[in-house]
Amino acid sequence: MSENCIFCKIANGEIPTEFVYESENVVVFKDINPQAPTHLLVVPKVHIPSLAQLNDKNLMSELLSGVIEATKKLNITDYRTVINTGSKAGQEVFHIHIHVMAGREFSWPAG
Ligand code: AMP
Ligand code: ZN
Repeated sequence: MSENCIFCKIANGEIPTEFVYESENVVVFKDINPQAPTHLLVVPKVHIPSLAQLNDKNLMSELLSGVIEATKKLNITDYRTVINTGSKAGQEVFHIHIHVMAGREFSWPAG
């Protein structure tokens, strides 16, 4: 738990939040400023600033399982996943999270 980290507060229940999915070490909730009709964030309960600091292979696996289980639960088959790592890549919340977006068309290559 890192003080003043919004995702720590959400993941640990300090800020009451509806979870789309929860496992032992991961929660999934809706993004407050959605970039698509469905926009979920898959977040570990432990504070890890970014993908660059993620060393725990079990947690890596559990995060991806969070993506798979949450999308299955919502019957989402087509979705875009994004992990922004570092401010130049667009990361604003320094508690690792996987964005899951669905419900619209996505272009590729990404800008
Ligand atoms: P990033 O730019 O990859 O760090 O993404 C941070 C995301 O967190 C943005 O999409 C924000 O809209 C989202 N966000 C920030 N605060 C909250 C919050 N309190 N609840 C849900 N999502 C949030
Ligand atoms: Zn945190």
